[in-house]
Amino acid sequence: MTLYLVIGPPAAGKSTWVREHAEAGDLTIDFDALANVLTPAALDSHKHTAEVKAVARAARQAAIDAAVVYADDVDVYVIHSTPSAKLMEHYRGLGAEVVTVDPGPDVVMDRISRERPWQMAQAAKKWYSERGLDTPAVKRPTTTERGMGWDHQQHRDRLLRLHIDGTPCWWCERPMFRDPARNFDGAVLEADHSLARVNGGTVADRLLHHRCNRQRGRGTRDHLRPAVASAPEAVPEGEATTLLAWPGAASGDGG
Ligand SMILES: [Zn+2]
Repeated sequence: MTLYLVIGPPAAGKSTWVREHAEAGDLTIDFDALANVLTPAALDSHKHTAEVKAVARAARQAAIDAAVVYADDVDVYVIHSTPSAKLMEHYRGLGAEVVTVDPGPDVVMDRISRERPWQMAQAAKKWYSERGLDTPAVKRPTTTERGMGWDHQQHRDRLLRLHIDGTPCWWCERPMFRDPARNFDGAVLEADHSLARVNGGTVADRLLHHRCNRQRGRGTRDHLRPAVASAPEAVPEGEATTLLAWPGAASGDGG
């Protein structure tokens, strides 16, 4: 058994390297992969909550400990982007062979700017500065450039995490679910700006059904939304009696 410790800056291609080198039956212990299976609806495969991180760290340690005991005939690949000096010592004590995957600051920063949370640039910068290397600047995108991009995605992720299944949609009052199959339109929930963006709303602050969000559009017909249209106070006089013909209501016992 060889224990490979695969290190490198974020977005270096460590997982890819392992995929290309590990053979069937080998063990791969990857923090991101562990974290992603610990929580439903992994919203971003590179960002984890504190709880998920803590449990993933413990799981990684347990997996490494077990691998050292049980992996006689297979190799073990541990992806650990920036282990502390103490951990490096621990891995070396286990006889680990250290593999550094590092395509260089230009490639890494370019990748981060295109496909990763821009905050990851800090970790990459740190990796290179510790090795005496400069990194090209990754420009944080302006609000205009972001548009419905990263920040909006962050707000939607947050809203989805906080969402309680069955909460009625503001537009149609039908229940909203994380699982698209359970929504009336079979689609994923969307983040909406209660103050429409054309009116200066900058933060998505609630979820709506996909179809309802499209119907709302720029918010010019908010007063006509189905939720209002079906509410008793909006029902024309003539029809109100039908709505109130509820057992008890007619006999005047106040329900
Ligand atoms: Zn709806």
